[in-house]
Amino acid sequence: MFCTGHRPCVDRTPHQALHKATGGRAELLIHGSCHCGNISFELDWEPDPTEIPARACDCSFCTKHGGVWTSNPQGELKIRIKDRALVSGYAFGTETARFHICRQCGIVPVATSEIAGRIYAAVNVNAFDDVPHAMLRRLSTSFGDEDAESRLARRKRNWAPNVQFVEHVV
Ligand SMILES: [Zn+2]
Repeated sequence: MFCTGHRPCVDRTPHQALHKATGGRAELLIHGSCHCGNISFELDWEPDPTEIPARACDCSFCTKHGGVWTSNPQGELKIRIKDRALVSGYAFGTETARFHICRQCGIVPVATSEIAGRIYAAVNVNAFDDVPHAMLRRLSTSFGDEDAESRLARRKRNWAPNVQFVEHVV
């Protein structure tokens, strides 16, 4: 694997998400990040999946950006941000989703939606660091016809409801 050296890659095996068993239940710990490492995430996927749905979104932003998203309603997502000033929270259209864009490298690893005071999130599979490509089941989806209410209902059903933002000073 080609390593650009922009971030340490010795602390884990490339393309090997961590399978772990907690209390007898197997789960997959997925790591992802933007290109420069300012935004990174850990997604605990339970139960340990045989495949991960990867939805190429056809909204105007994701079309331009090549956004391909996944989420797990049983998932726990930890988002780490090194420098908040280098993260843009972009919203458009119904403004119900916020795309977290790294201002430094331009990658969008995470989208969030606030529904009834709770943050739900989906992650961009293109930002995955350690999931084998063979595990991704690519689906194309069209959400263009949805109104804001059905958008929120769908995210509430499908997006990870346990989201934690961690900021730390570099
Ligand atoms: Zn970045």
